[in-house]
Amino acid sequence: MATSDSQHEDQRFLVLRSFRDLPPALLFRGLLDSAAVECSLADENTIRMDWFWSNLLGGVKLCVRKADADSAASLLDQGVPEKFEVEGVGEYQQPRCPKCQSLEISFQGLNKPVDYTRALLGGHLPHSRSLWECDSCGYQWPESNEKPPANLLISASSVLLIVMTIGTMLIWTIAAVRSVASH
Ligand SMILES: [Zn+2]
Repeated sequence: MATSDSQHEDQRFLVLRSFRDLPPALLFRGLLDSAAVECSLADENTIRMDWFWSNLLGGVKLCVRKADADSAASLLDQGVPEKFEVEGVGEYQQPRCPKCQSLEISFQGLNKPVDYTRALLGGHLPHSRSLWECDSCGYQWPESNEKPPANLLISASSVLLIVMTIGTMLIWTIAAVRSVASH
């Protein structure tokens, strides 16, 4: 039946907005919560673990049901606060467009995925790791080099290397166990 199909479709979750940082995502989730709009944050746990992954995954995503998407979007459009308190995080200040000072900017993620491969291999960190774009004037600029601190990024890549090493060791162990079991 067409009616139940479209009802089912309306219940599906879709990505309403992507954020680079967790604080604004939490703020907007709180906004929707207070308006009784059901929503969830995708990748929230991963983002909490490390800023590094935020870039890798394209940020934290605020998801709402399709049926609520329009009302949720208009709620979010009512204004981007310049700075606000986030529980457990402290004051968060929204970045602005350096050209027109607009707060309506979006994070475009990485310029080149290969930059991260270089970082992982211990190479020099590229100067422009990622890109912002202004929704008002279209100006693009690279992420400031102060955030995150280089040592955070390096420690994050060390963690990733360890995880990768453990993964490889696991595969070897499983292969070894299997070959023993088959004999
Ligand atoms: Zn601008």
